Amino acid sequence: MKSLAKLHREPGIWMADNPVPEIGPNDLLIKIRKTAICGTDMHIFNWDEWSQQTIPVPMIVGHEYVGEVVKIGQEVAGFTLGDRVSGEGHITCGHCRNCRAGRRHLCRNTTGVGVNRQGAFAEYLVIPAFNAFKIPANISDDMAAIFDPFGNAVHTALSFDLVGEDVLITGAGPIGIMAAAVAKHVGARHVVITDINDYRLDLAKKMGASRVVNVASENLKDVMNELGMTEGFDIGLEMSGVPSAFRDMLDKMNHGGKIAMLGIPPQDVAVDWNQVIFKGLTIKGIYGREMFETWYKMVSLLQSGLDLSPIITHQFGIDDFAKGFETMGSGRSGKVLLNWQA
Ligand code: NAD
Ligand code: ZN
Repeated sequence: MKSLAKLHREPGIWMADNPVPEIGPNDLLIKIRKTAICGTDMHIFNWDEWSQQTIPVPMIVGHEYVGEVVKIGQEVAGFTLGDRVSGEGHITCGHCRNCRAGRRHLCRNTTGVGVNRQGAFAEYLVIPAFNAFKIPANISDDMAAIFDPFGNAVHTALSFDLVGEDVLITGAGPIGIMAAAVAKHVGARHVVITDINDYRLDLAKKMGASRVVNVASENLKDVMNELGMTEGFDIGLEMSGVPSAFRDMLDKMNHGGKIAMLGIPPQDVAVDWNQVIFKGLTIKGIYGREMFETWYKMVSLLQSGLDLSPIITHQFGIDDFAKGFETMGSGRSGKVLLNWQA
């Protein structure tokens, strides 16, 4: 089968030819229809320090996908051949305290599809059936292909009650933009999103952010005055991983504000802890998505009218994968899809 793999310990991703993987008794074999390129795949492509320490070579990359069940392990119940599925990319151990309590997203022994084990950028993928999620008929392949990052956005955004609240999102990457759309959809008042990339801020505006702010040319304090915000933001969603953005967020939060942190900073970040202490802020770290509450919420949000279609800005056939990675790396895109059947 065709696959996109990390074949050499240097920048790049290569088209490879692998045998169709074997399934175990608790697994599904999924024939991939579409995949999406994640920021993580870009890190692996660029072979940065994190990738050099984490990624086994050779390895098939990718973890955002939709496909169809074509083989079912003998111990698996609840799936039928032809089921359309996406899947949770965090494979959990099932025996640690959190797993046994049903808090699988807090498993301390997680391994990642396309990070620590063979990934989804291939004609076929094997995952434990536990990780597969059936996609209802009225949800498109395109939407299902981005359930993984959509799930990051939903898990982060729905960490706190947003109804009637003023929300600050730092970072208008695909996840920040989807979080803005979710916050608006569930009833937040002002949803202000920051970035330094006008292409992405325009996309955030199109998808429902009430005010977009390019922090290279505009001051968040002026924007708050313009919106008549006399106190501060109630909720912060940190989705850039940029230290200055997080510090600015701490400074603009109201007392009692709540922050969910998804963005991964490149190194230690110094913050003014007095902001946290004297304002009585709550800070919650976010990793992945809840299994499988977030997945149910994603379906419900789409079925209740949330329109995420503008976030998919580019699609390429798999033989044009290099263009896909180039587009994703340009900063002038939302989500980029690769079609395995084209
Ligand atoms: P992304 O890199 O596409 O988005 C980050 C955005 O931040 C970019 O658009 C960038 O221009 C912007 N930015 C740069 N400087 C800024 C500044 N000073 N102020 C505001 N924004 C600024 O990433 P993404 O795919 O949307 O993911 C968002 C973040 O979440 C990344 O840090 C990613 O590594 C992280 N992530 C975490 C998890 C998790 O489980 N915790 C999962 C997926 C992604
Ligand atoms: Zn576990």
